[in-house]
Amino acid sequence: MLIDSHCHLQFRAFAPNLAEVISRCQEKQVGGIIVGTQIDTSRAAVELAATQETLYAVIGLHPIHLFAAPIDEAEFSFQSRGEDFVPEKYAALLSPKVVGIGECGLEMYHIPATIDRDEYLAKQIISFEAQAEFARVHDLALVIHVREAHEQMISVLKGLKRQIRGVVHCFTGSQEQAQEYLSLGLHLGFTGIITFPPKKNLSTGHGSLREVIRQCPLDRLLIETDAPYLAPQKYRGQQCEPWMVEEVAKQVAEWRNLSWSEVQEITVRNTQDLFKISTLGSG
Ligand SMILES: [Zn+2]
Ligand SMILES: [Zn+2]
Repeated sequence: MLIDSHCHLQFRAFAPNLAEVISRCQEKQVGGIIVGTQIDTSRAAVELAATQETLYAVIGLHPIHLFAAPIDEAEFSFQSRGEDFVPEKYAALLSPKVVGIGECGLEMYHIPATIDRDEYLAKQIISFEAQAEFARVHDLALVIHVREAHEQMISVLKGLKRQIRGVVHCFTGSQEQAQEYLSLGLHLGFTGIITFPPKKNLSTGHGSLREVIRQCPLDRLLIETDAPYLAPQKYRGQQCEPWMVEEVAKQVAEWRNLSWSEVQEITVRNTQDLFKISTLGSG
């Protein structure tokens, strides 16, 4: 079996055929961690995880939802929230199926034209630090989103002056940034981006994600889809579903010279260790 360590099965994009998507995941024996982005999608993640043994939930506030603004992504446009991280509200969602906090972090790609860049970053850092503290208090893994803000995130993490149990999800940074996160004790999560043609799977530091994966300690490497976004190359143009994490696993196997069973065993074990999931699919 495999586990998709980061997906958004609770998003509206899946509503029309959620039961079919879940049964495809079951047929292919792929479990998943459903990640929230604000209070409503966090609650929906918890509710959905409660319906299936192989699904778990992460709750938290994505930096994009700190300000209300229309967000334009290639295939997905939506209105962001303008929400603040209120620990009590998120604490009310905790259950044994909640294994992490996030996704939280820094997002300097989508900056609404009406908002000052420094003010935006400062607010994101406050929200991130509050969620890191929540993760510490409740002994949960931290799911970290970083887009065009690795230097800032590395300095915020160093400022916390303590070991963080967490993952930098959808990692596309440079080799140097990867090494910084690893030395801070974090895991790195890789999506279908690693299956894109060589020109498109370059890290944002203009290095190669292949080299980042080759130098990532095998016990710190996670695989994910970020579904409904980022369908792997084989399924480009389709809506991404968690079972497609197979393609990410295949790419890791090829680049690390691992067998299929080794890559399954390693990535499932890493996900279980990071999120403290004792018996996947039976608890
Ligand atoms: Zn993200
Ligand atoms: Zn995500």
